[in-house]
Amino acid sequence: MHRRVSVLGATGSVGSSTLALMDEAERAGTARFTVAALTGGRNIERLAEAARRWRPELVVTAWPELKSDLEDALAGSGIPVAAGESALIEAALRPADWIMAAIVGVAGLKSTWAAAGTGAIVGLANKESLVCCGPALMARATTAGGRILPVDSEHSAIYQVFPHDHPEGVRRLVLTASGGPFRQTPAAELARVTPERAVAHPNWSMGAKISVDSATMANKGLEMIEAAYLFGMPADRIDVVVHPESVIHSMVEYVDGSTLAQMGPPDMKTPIACALAWPDRLSWPAPRLDLAAMGQLTFEAPDPVRFPALRLAREALEAGGGAPTIFNAANEVAALAFLDRRLAFLNIAAVIAETLERMVKTGADSDFDDACAGALALDAHARRVAIEIVGDLALAA
Ligand code: NDP
Repeated sequence: MHRRVSVLGATGSVGSSTLALMDEAERAGTARFTVAALTGGRNIERLAEAARRWRPELVVTAWPELKSDLEDALAGSGIPVAAGESALIEAALRPADWIMAAIVGVAGLKSTWAAAGTGAIVGLANKESLVCCGPALMARATTAGGRILPVDSEHSAIYQVFPHDHPEGVRRLVLTASGGPFRQTPAAELARVTPERAVAHPNWSMGAKISVDSATMANKGLEMIEAAYLFGMPADRIDVVVHPESVIHSMVEYVDGSTLAQMGPPDMKTPIACALAWPDRLSWPAPRLDLAAMGQLTFEAPDPVRFPALRLAREALEAGGGAPTIFNAANEVAALAFLDRRLAFLNIAAVIAETLERMVKTGADSDFDDACAGALALDAHARRVAIEIVGDLALAA
């Protein structure tokens, strides 16, 4: 297999796993890669190291003020360097067979949107862009002759067991959730948890923002919205079950009573490999599942009282229009405020609820013409509202 790839967000958890997987596959002699573009943010050292290894045609930092640092780090390499938002778009537009969209948050929307318009296969980790622009993003990829392949392990699982030619055979999708680090933490203690505890996920190693999302279960809410758009499924046919071992990554229940599940060790390289080689399979030194050693798999219902973000996401999906964008913006603002110690853990959901309340009920979620620009405008508006609410809650604390 030879692929010409770009990795947007190459310095992050998913981006680094993508490059590590490519490296392992090349060493195993099962694939070869040419890298068109790599992008990163503030981690110049990691970006330069990746650029020296892969020799992309273009390497970009999102921050113009860091361009000279990147140039210094790559001095003598001959690798072209650029910086800033337009350079990120340029990286996304470079001809490639496969583009990994792994920037975190709505900051990844413009480049994901650009990538989807190229006709390449987009490996989508940046769930926030799908949440904000779902149907339009899917349509854009199809119109351009490409497609969106999910990288989130849950959606990769569903993608692998979904009857793409006969979707009428599906009764419901079941997303599994690990339950995060606070699955068994009493409500009273949740009020005092720290960012350090929130990012210490029991099964997965991830970036800080998605780790907080996992702890609040806002991540599962975002994934519910993501699943609705990827698989054309209404909210009332998507369920969540907590499965602490993270071995079954999600399931499709069929109308005849069958349920198909996809399993694997909790390692992001496996869903990345699936998207990278689809419809083929990439052979790499993957960790293997030892079910006998594991002994048992367990399941439980999510707790709607301690984790209200899941219900809020469902309500946003049902409300439609810009509500998922508002949910996402408020969540990003609140998660960041929590990481900065400006907001208590339990107030993350409170910020989301209040932002939705103020904006959806006052009609500020009204629809827009250009999906990407409209989502960004709505996102900016929702952020302003959420920041105000974070300030009010901080003062009240
Ligand atoms: P990380 O925080 O680890 O990495 C984010 C990447 O985006 C880094 O390359 C970062 O650069 C870059 N970045 C940050 N801010 C900006 C910006 N304003 N403009 C451009 N680039 C920016 O995140 P993850 O890898 O954990 O997550 C990436 C996406 O994948 C998220 O949408 C997440 O929800 C999704 N995802 C993640 C999973 C995981 O296991 N981590 C699993 C499934 C989905 P730098 O670090 O150099 O500043």
